[in-house]
Amino acid sequence: MRADGTFIAIEVDDAAAKDAELARKLTEACPVDIFAQGTGGELELVRGNLDECVLCRLCLDAAGPAAVKVIKLYDDAALLV
Ligand code: SF4
Repeated sequence: MRADGTFIAIEVDDAAAKDAELARKLTEACPVDIFAQGTGGELELVRGNLDECVLCRLCLDAAGPAAVKVIKLYDDAALLV
């Protein structure tokens, strides 16, 4: 799954997005509520919050860079590492 804001896009591996435990971790980790959980526990991306990303890397720590990518659209789509 992927959602694009003006400055930031978030891409999450589709299998990871269905993992309720991972979704819970991401929802807890992000300080600006970019991640949420749907009624079935699956991950949802909150489009209205994407550009609030503070590049803190907590989502990468929680899920690993293979599962979550933070894409800096304002910087030629460079990945947050
Ligand atoms: S880098 Fe930080 S603010 Fe940005 S999506 Fe990840 S946890 Fe949220």
